[in-house]
Amino acid sequence: MKHFPIFLAVEGKSIVVAGGDEAAVAKLRLLLKTEAAITVYAQAPTQAIVDWAADGQLTLVQRRFEQRDAEGASLVYAASDDDAEDARVADLANSAGVLTIMVDNLHGSDFITPAIVDRDPVTIAIGTEGAAPVLARKIKRHLEETLSPALGLLAKAGKAFRDSAEILDFGRPRRAFWADWYDRAGPLAQSEGRPLEAALHDLLSTHIAAKDEPGHVAFVGAGPGDPELLTLKARNALDTADVVIHDRLVAPEILELARREATLIPAGKEGFGPAMAQDDINALIVTHVQSGAKVVRLKGGDPSVFGRLDEEVDAVAEAGLDWSIVPGITSASAAVAAIGQSLTKRTRNSDIRLITGHDIQGFADQDWAALAKPGAVAAIYMGKRAARFVQGRLLMHGTPRATPVTVVENASRPDQRILTTTLETLEPTLTDAQLSGPALILFGLAPRNEVKPVNAQTAVGQ
Ligand code: SAH
Repeated sequence: MKHFPIFLAVEGKSIVVAGGDEAAVAKLRLLLKTEAAITVYAQAPTQAIVDWAADGQLTLVQRRFEQRDAEGASLVYAASDDDAEDARVADLANSAGVLTIMVDNLHGSDFITPAIVDRDPVTIAIGTEGAAPVLARKIKRHLEETLSPALGLLAKAGKAFRDSAEILDFGRPRRAFWADWYDRAGPLAQSEGRPLEAALHDLLSTHIAAKDEPGHVAFVGAGPGDPELLTLKARNALDTADVVIHDRLVAPEILELARREATLIPAGKEGFGPAMAQDDINALIVTHVQSGAKVVRLKGGDPSVFGRLDEEVDAVAEAGLDWSIVPGITSASAAVAAIGQSLTKRTRNSDIRLITGHDIQGFADQDWAALAKPGAVAAIYMGKRAARFVQGRLLMHGTPRATPVTVVENASRPDQRILTTTLETLEPTLTDAQLSGPALILFGLAPRNEVKPVNAQTAVGQ
């Protein structure tokens, strides 16, 4: 982040605009929405500026900007239509130690004016660090359409009611009250034309009367990594969670969707790396739910696939706590999508096995004879280390050496890699590729359109 967004207190402060043409007018339209005292320096200002001055909305000084004019100013806008003049103003203002912006000159500026969605007192600022103004405008349009113009009124009423709401305990009860106001009760009162203050009082009584809600845990599937592969239910759960206990496999982009106030706790293991004992994870979940928290236990892929879901559900159920499961897209689905195939196909395979490369005892034994049959397909999870073992067992049971095998690393993520190989060459192809991310082995499937490989090939990317 090269620019840090802040909201600057400008009430009663001085903001200086040097320039009197269109560029200045564009900035002034925005600045006039603030409660700052605005002074414009321009030798030949356009009519709009003259009118604003006559109207008392700003002070107009009809001469060039000089260094002393920067004194006491919070911000200086160098906004003439002349680059050399802007550079001169910026120079002078900078030497006076004032934050300065040169319009349309990112590098000469101390700050950027973002695209703004104005629902005063709610203000949304959108910036792309100058990279994509068109995108900023697109996002702005989208937000303008999404956020009711009356949102500002709800927020104003809410602000005036803050002291009264302090009767509710700090933390969850107070947050729940405000969430209820902005999500439901506020918009409802607006649509019914009820006075907002009365609606706030009623809502407060309801919340005071309501007993503290008990805690709850949702076991949520985070999908294979692409945030767009989250379910809406998973998103909503993240949006309202007090505590998120997540697998290390879960992508940071997904964790960012959690409510800002939520506590994020990494748990679970990463490949063969450090692991948190399952009993400790169970205890962690139970403790947080008992404290009344809305907990999301976030697991990679689908929680019910090689996720030790039952052990965690048992622990929570034994403690008599509320729980639910939100399914997710398992990595086999993402991997097979990446190679343009389907997991089952009429005339090829009427079953699909999801198997693990290793279990508690070590390398996991499977029904190898079934897999050796023509057309068999299996999605092998946690198979990187077990590949040689799997390869050996399958060959021993008479599986043809040329059976296609595809390894998809980081399925659905930007760094996804696809290795196309055969049972014969699975090892050492896999070891040679030195994969560092989670990888799913699709046994019996080659990428669509791929000529059957004679030797191992490595295809990078999709
Ligand atoms: N519950 C998860 C699986 C957990 S076991 C699911 O439904 O996907 C962990 C294994 O899942 C990893 O060893 C790897 O084989 C697989 N895996 C998880 N995410 C993956 C991804 N993005 N790409 C490929 N494989 C993945």
